[in-house]
Amino acid sequence: MEKAQMRRGNAKKAVWRQAVDALLPPRCVVSGEIVGQQGAVAPSVWGKIRFIADPQCAVCGYPFEFSSEGNIQTCAACIRERPPFISARAALVYDDASRDMILKFKHGDQLHAAPVFIPWMERSGREMLAEADLIIPVPLHRWRFLKRRYNQAAVLAFLLARRAGAACIPDALVRRRATATQGHLDFRARHRNVRRAFAVHPRHAEKIAGKRVVLVDDVYTTGATIGECANTLLKAGAAEVSALTIARAVKAGG
Ligand SMILES: [Zn+2]
Repeated sequence: MEKAQMRRGNAKKAVWRQAVDALLPPRCVVSGEIVGQQGAVAPSVWGKIRFIADPQCAVCGYPFEFSSEGNIQTCAACIRERPPFISARAALVYDDASRDMILKFKHGDQLHAAPVFIPWMERSGREMLAEADLIIPVPLHRWRFLKRRYNQAAVLAFLLARRAGAACIPDALVRRRATATQGHLDFRARHRNVRRAFAVHPRHAEKIAGKRVVLVDDVYTTGATIGECANTLLKAGAAEVSALTIARAVKAGG
């Protein structure tokens, strides 16, 4: 088929799609309830999700209950052992409500949920995104990738990069070996589990040197995986590394 013909065909499809969307009521990407506009979240879901705002740890983004006047605050864990990234930020508290949303996004072919998370992540990571040269996702292991069909962190990284005017390298980091599932592991065991688990893809090594990188993942749990990815990028010559996730566990850190 001629290119022009194909473009016309695609345009027709887009118009048709818009017409169908206009007929069907838009639905919440989380609950499936009917909502006012495409990409909106239903009030029942909205009421349950908890956004993270200041005051929070200047380094890891752990939310504090009270602000100590005017001082830049750092949590006890970051004072004890400074993470390799300069800052980590998350949009939501990782709890039942956000876990539900993220699991649907991860396992349920709910790729269209990604644009819902983007403005939330942009708000939490405004400063790091403004400075970013490169946006890089935390990689999935190849076997998990096959099972899930896509790396949800790469989808987020791609969308964030496009809007921030930064470059996205979805395969800049690779897993050297499969790491055990981390769900049952404590903080120290998680660190041991991910040590030297990542490498910079040789094809991209030069593109990382001297760059300010934002690492993207869905959830920040203890910071072990993101810390190890940051270490790997810094060893490859990255100027600095920050991290941005949809959600953050609040019990394990602090
Ligand atoms: Zn901290």
